[in-house]
Amino acid sequence: MNSTEIRHFLFDIEGTTTPISFVHEILFPYSKNNLLNYLHNNKISNLIFSNLKEDHVKDTKSNHYKNSLENSSESLFSYLEFLISVDRKNSGLKEIQGEIWKQGYESGDIKSQIFPDTLDFFQFIQSKNKQINIYSSGSILAQKLIFKYSNLGDLSAYITNYFDTGVGPKRDSNSYITISKSLNCNPKEIIFFTDIQEEADSAFSIGIKSYIMLRKGNSPIETIKHPILNSFSEWRE
Ligand SMILES: [Mg+2]
Repeated sequence: MNSTEIRHFLFDIEGTTTPISFVHEILFPYSKNNLLNYLHNNKISNLIFSNLKEDHVKDTKSNHYKNSLENSSESLFSYLEFLISVDRKNSGLKEIQGEIWKQGYESGDIKSQIFPDTLDFFQFIQSKNKQINIYSSGSILAQKLIFKYSNLGDLSAYITNYFDTGVGPKRDSNSYITISKSLNCNPKEIIFFTDIQEEADSAFSIGIKSYIMLRKGNSPIETIKHPILNSFSEWRE
């Protein structure tokens, strides 16, 4: 490793540290299946309700959704199911999903899956006194839970910063500028690992060296722009 240059390692989660199948076959179905039960047993905060209300106003105006929205479990459930069905990225929905996952992880109902080479790589990075950071479109709560309750144990102590789409979309190069500023470093001092070419391109365009992960279950990638890794054990600087 060129240790004078790299200070930060930045990781995507889905398809990079964690199998895509875990997110789609376990995590999302879990929040969906436990949604009604969660709404029966938990009160929704005013902030979450107003986040939902914002989208609800637009959806009723455009006739995509016809029912009213009350702060009752049945009414919330119906609208949240609608948001899930259209794959809407509403922050209130994300917050509720995060809370459902939190309860699921804490009760032992769910355990996240991290590729085993991730832990070896984290240990290696830590031994070189470099920082490990995460950038994922999942909420920061969801990210923290994935690393805390994993098949490899609690990995949260390895991670310094978590970034979500609060810094901007993952396919927008400005997001990577914001991350560099937040890490207080030059983009050249960061390296980024992701499974999505457009994300790698965006980071690369501002000077962040990017690697594409070709994990089992990921979509095939055709790029000559970025090095491709099947596992972090192949990483050589
Ligand atoms: Mg990904």
